[in-house]
Amino acid sequence: MSTAGQRGADVVSLDERLLYLRVLRAVLAGATVLDAALLPGGLRAPFAVVGMVALGYLVVCLLAEAAWRLMRRRGLWLFGSLLMLDGIYLAWASYLTGGSAGPLRYLILVHLGAVTLLASYRTGVKLALWHSLLQLCVFYAERAGILHGGPKDITTEWYRIIAFIVALWALTLTISTLAAVNERELRRRRYELEQLAQMGRALEDANDPLGVGDVLLDTLADTFGFQRMALFEVVDDASPRLLTCRGLIDAVVADFSIGEGSVLGTVHRERQTMLVQDLDAAVDPWLTAIMPDAHNLAVVPLGADAVVGVLVAETSERSGSRIERRVVATTERFAGHAALAMRNANLLERMSQMAVTDGLTELANRRSFDRSLERELTRAARTDGRLSVVLIDIDHFKALNDTYGHVTGDTVLRQIAGALRDCGREYDTIARYGGEEFAAVLPGCSSALALQVAERLRRAVEEAATDVPVTASAGVATYPYDGIDANGLLNAADQALYAGKHDGRNTVRSAEQARGAATHVSLT
Ligand code: GH3
Ligand code: MG
Ligand code: MG
Repeated sequence: MSTAGQRGADVVSLDERLLYLRVLRAVLAGATVLDAALLPGGLRAPFAVVGMVALGYLVVCLLAEAAWRLMRRRGLWLFGSLLMLDGIYLAWASYLTGGSAGPLRYLILVHLGAVTLLASYRTGVKLALWHSLLQLCVFYAERAGILHGGPKDITTEWYRIIAFIVALWALTLTISTLAAVNERELRRRRYELEQLAQMGRALEDANDPLGVGDVLLDTLADTFGFQRMALFEVVDDASPRLLTCRGLIDAVVADFSIGEGSVLGTVHRERQTMLVQDLDAAVDPWLTAIMPDAHNLAVVPLGADAVVGVLVAETSERSGSRIERRVVATTERFAGHAALAMRNANLLERMSQMAVTDGLTELANRRSFDRSLERELTRAARTDGRLSVVLIDIDHFKALNDTYGHVTGDTVLRQIAGALRDCGREYDTIARYGGEEFAAVLPGCSSALALQVAERLRRAVEEAATDVPVTASAGVATYPYDGIDANGLLNAADQALYAGKHDGRNTVRSAEQARGAATHVSLT
């Protein structure tokens, strides 16, 4: 019988199994009465006695079951006792209806088979022992004259008994072995389903492709014990990128390109799993380098329509063994779920990237500039630090648009953005502030240092290889001298920029210089 722990997880509930046993007992009792009615010649007791025994047996069984329910299903010993009672009843009924010559003896085999399948292998073996013992008891009781009506030829009867016992054991062992095979398969499937469900839950928490990849590899390692795995991201036929891996050696790979016949290339192109017994170093040089001596690889595409990645998993290290089809099928299922999650993660990543990027120049947009400025201002206020902002405006851009057209204007804006990005790489944020205006946040920069940076940015615009040569003017404002919040600082930088424009453009001014100039103007 299954233990209390397993009971809840059983596919067929205990109640259902009990129902089958109840039906079986009814059939046993019914068959006895039928046999007694149809073959009265072989009866060793009056029909009424046989009927009463059958009825009594059924009543005892039902009472025992009711008692078990009253005991809140705790007395497993009661079950064992009932099975023993079944044995005694069958031995008795088979004796009464003709013994080894009567047909009822075959019901013992039915009972044994049913209990082995419904309960367990061990219960079956114990019951087989019990039935064998009862058979021998009846035989010796007949020989000793305790029971009457036994056959005259003791030797033949002895061989019959032995043959029956052998058949009984053969049946029990066959059924229990085959049932164990089926049960193992069922258990394995259930385990894989549980793993799949668990992976689903883990995938909900993984919100980037790397997280998704790790969940997939961990699940495969858990389920099949794969030691070596690699997961590649393949974006638009370009070289694959190693996303995450398990158990690989740290080989230096200069070129991750996928050649004509390479397994990764083939799987990516044909969108079908490929099973590889041994890798060919000539065709897959870098895969062989990171997975030396790999045997029995399953190379599985992630995604059916659009392949977002390729999984390479070593299913077993023994070179002679075959790749199990079942393992590959389940791996494909896991990969399918991971592919879906990875596509979502990619989409989410792209969307959040788009939300902070300017579409034309691919610099940070105004929104992410504002956010970064606020963040740095808070930090500067907390640490009593400095912070500067630079506003850059292209000179006479309207004229450029008017002369060369907006398309050229856009191209020039993109080229300027590239130059600014290259030049300001070490600084926090260079953003497209608006139309042809750019802005930078320079955390920790004093006014003097910020002027130098702004000058470098201005020169970068001037020297940029743009379709049409352009210049720019820049204004610098520094926290806390020129403003204590974002608005104040940006206004001050704007004033400085305006001063630069006023002074002939292609120049850099600080807010302080702009204020000095204004004072100077008002004094004169
Ligand atoms: P100034 O030297 O005073 O800055 O002169 P300016 O012509 O650059 O004047 P202003 O900064 O006011 O002009 C902004 C012009 O930039 C107006 C508009 O035609 C152009 N512009 C703004 N955004 C874009 C854009 O996305 N693409 C193109 N091609 N032009 C733009
Ligand atoms: Mg402007
Ligand atoms: Mg301008």
